[in-house]
Amino acid sequence: MSKYWSSLTRKLSPYVPGEQPKDQAYIKLNTNENPYPPSPKVLRAIQEAAGDALRLYPDPESTVLREKIAARYGLGKEEVFVGNGSDEVLALAFQAFFDQTQPVLFADITYSFYKVYIQLHELKAEIIPLRDDFQLDVEAYVSKTNGGIVIANPNAPTGIEVPLADIERIVQQNPDSVVLVDEAYVDFGGHSAVSLIRRYPNVLVVQTLSKSRSLAGLRVGFALGQAELIEGLNRVKNSFNSYPIDRLAQAGAIAAIEDEAYFQETTEKVIRTRQWVTDELRQMGFEVLPSQTNFVFARLAGRSGAELQQKLKEHGVLVRHFAQPRIEDYLRITIGTDEEMRIMLDTLKQRVLMR
Ligand code: PMP
Repeated sequence: MSKYWSSLTRKLSPYVPGEQPKDQAYIKLNTNENPYPPSPKVLRAIQEAAGDALRLYPDPESTVLREKIAARYGLGKEEVFVGNGSDEVLALAFQAFFDQTQPVLFADITYSFYKVYIQLHELKAEIIPLRDDFQLDVEAYVSKTNGGIVIANPNAPTGIEVPLADIERIVQQNPDSVVLVDEAYVDFGGHSAVSLIRRYPNVLVVQTLSKSRSLAGLRVGFALGQAELIEGLNRVKNSFNSYPIDRLAQAGAIAAIEDEAYFQETTEKVIRTRQWVTDELRQMGFEVLPSQTNFVFARLAGRSGAELQQKLKEHGVLVRHFAQPRIEDYLRITIGTDEEMRIMLDTLKQRVLMR
């Protein structure tokens, strides 16, 4: 704590991402990165962009990238916003759309960055507990006065999907609020709310290239919604940073969106591996929540999640554990390659679960 910090800075409790340790080589299944490299076309595009032109500022509006994303999702470019990772897009959306007098609604178990943005933008939150089976309590979102709604769909860290009909009901019943649907993991089997955009002016869909397009290191996320919402995001963005997407990121992201075949192939591989890992874990006695993401959330009755995570780490396998009520005995295990998952499963069987 420094005397130079503002009163807001003093109050913040920043988000803590999963660890990126450097002490040894781990099988890294703790931050939901994609185990497959980005499309070779992305690497070529970035190499080509890494030339004399870096002298010049990038296109502040990322026009070509927005056109590509718009075409991919059947929208116009004025319905697309891009930012430096979807974390940045989310932060700007909280500031652009949420009312400071009414609470913003989101689940008790969801992406923990949401409550950090609430603090940062001095908003109010009302936390709606997930039901006992970790499904969204849809009726609570329909009946409560609010200044905005945030739903991660599929949810993190549970991996569970909210049916699109429930998302639509929430959007429809809250015509005066923006419903932000965070679809960071939707490409691994979820159903996108993009199809609602034409009919509802209050739905904002946020996605990322970090997971399904293997570009966590490039930092590109985007929002899709009707033009007035996108204009709101631009007002906030242009009051903060005119150039959030650099030249290399724009070039790489364009190539990633263009390479649909590679995207289909790698996401399908992750989905297949997830199914196999789910079956294997269940055979070992784990309870595994139904996942539509690139991770599984699982627990073993009678065993502490913290202890399982620590033991896996001692044997070179990193998974994520959340010391949070209701989920402290769960492990969130990112889907890696088949080989990485074989090692994870063997480590669990032969080293961790043996007493
Ligand atoms: N939303 C959710 C639910 C996430 O889990 C993550 C990844 N931590 C993000 C958004 C942000 O991803 P990125 O900033 O890499 O786009």
